[in-house]
Amino acid sequence: MMGVAAKKPYQLVSKETVNNHSLVKVGPATFGGSELMVIAGPCAVENREQVLCSAAAVAKAGGKVFRGGAFKPRSSPYSFQGLAEKGLELLNEVSRRYGLVVVTEIIDDYSLEAARDAVDMVQIGSRNMQNFHLLKLVGKSGKPVILKRGLSSTIEEWLLAAEYIMAEGNRQVVLCERGIRTYETATRNTLDLSAVPLVKELSHLPVIVDPSHATGVRSLVSPMSRAAIAAGADGLLIEIHPNPEKALCDGAQSLTLTQYDTLMKELAPVAGAVQRQLGTAYAVGI
Ligand code: PEP
Ligand code: MN
Repeated sequence: MMGVAAKKPYQLVSKETVNNHSLVKVGPATFGGSELMVIAGPCAVENREQVLCSAAAVAKAGGKVFRGGAFKPRSSPYSFQGLAEKGLELLNEVSRRYGLVVVTEIIDDYSLEAARDAVDMVQIGSRNMQNFHLLKLVGKSGKPVILKRGLSSTIEEWLLAAEYIMAEGNRQVVLCERGIRTYETATRNTLDLSAVPLVKELSHLPVIVDPSHATGVRSLVSPMSRAAIAAGADGLLIEIHPNPEKALCDGAQSLTLTQYDTLMKELAPVAGAVQRQLGTAYAVGI
């Protein structure tokens, strides 16, 4: 039929259904509002000292959301797989001690069940973006969720994955662009920044950017973070580590705590230029 635009296959996610920006509120954190949510934390929860000192840095810098992996989906079965329940306990301690919102990746039914009461928000990683069973479970759980774009997924596939979660009644979905696989090998992935304004045209959901996994290179994290904010991202997801050389996972892309503090200062003028704010130190116990 000429002149009649076909409806998008992802109606709940689409701007055709909700023609403004949705806010995803998790405790004191609001995604999609004028304040930028800069999530930070170590790729993997390794031990108490590493987690608490990373969390203190996040709280001090005005961050509201702390992320650490307790269940790690690693490319190699011989790589560190995470501390599982012990890791969740440490994340829960961060929540109690600093009042930070805590996020962790879940990889299956078991980890979702274990994370349900320990953390405030869950992440579905790239490798699971089309794990439809997991998408439905997270949808049913009602837990706020960060849905990363799949390694080689189109924007439509990504939005359909979000639709799976929303179709189960969970409206608290934050999309995360984390780079896609291209022929380029100089960076870990290729950050598709055009996805940010495009997804914001297509969907009402908040969109954040993960420059750590997108580049895999520490020195590129700050420039791509600034670019992401300039492109309209609602927040960032940054990997940090007190001693990246010793990190059990993703050390090469992790910022030191000092570099993270510098990054937060470097973001301020860009945030101001797009009429967004960065949080001011809010957390308790620092
Ligand atoms: C992670 O967030 O540590 C991770 C494994 O990311 P991704 O799913 O984007 O590869
Ligand atoms: Mn990682």
